[in-house]
Amino acid sequence: MSKILNEVLSANRDYVNNFGDKGSLALPPARHFAVLTCMDARLDPAKYAGLSEGDAHVIRNAGGRASDDAIRSLVISYKLLGTKEWFVIHHTNCGMELFTDEIMRDLLGSSLKTASIDDKGWHDCCEGPGSAEAKYVDWLTIKEQEASVLEDVTRIRNHPLVPSDIPVYGYIYDVATGRLVEVPAATQAGRAS
Ligand code: ZN
Repeated sequence: MSKILNEVLSANRDYVNNFGDKGSLALPPARHFAVLTCMDARLDPAKYAGLSEGDAHVIRNAGGRASDDAIRSLVISYKLLGTKEWFVIHHTNCGMELFTDEIMRDLLGSSLKTASIDDKGWHDCCEGPGSAEAKYVDWLTIKEQEASVLEDVTRIRNHPLVPSDIPVYGYIYDVATGRLVEVPAATQAGRAS
């Protein structure tokens, strides 16, 4: 068994032993809100936003971007499970700022193996084959965090499946301090009406 698999299953046995009465939690989130945020390993939404099991929906992807699939989850979150406020939370020092579509397409075009980065940029280990499929993916990279939060909040706000009475708040999590910093233009763009 891999070390990681062993560790995860062991941790889960401890979790089960302390599970308490969480088996009686209701399916809809008790605090009626949802968070869209980055998958970055340094971010723990349960901790930075004070969540317990059953409290809220947390939707994560690379960058915390408002992709079609993130919006699919948000629409389900409201339409079927009753959330009433949404947060878009990107963060400082996001890996999505470190490449472009062109770089990702070139890297995957030459090799599927893990690439490395140094002060000269990204490098493949040159072990092929790669794939041209990367050309057909919009990788939703980020040039500047405030702009990406505003863009995503605006996209969600204007989406035809999102009703106008859900406020959408825009924030940046600072990985150096743990603080959530508002992007006022985004929160303004996401206000309910
Ligand atoms: Zn990130």
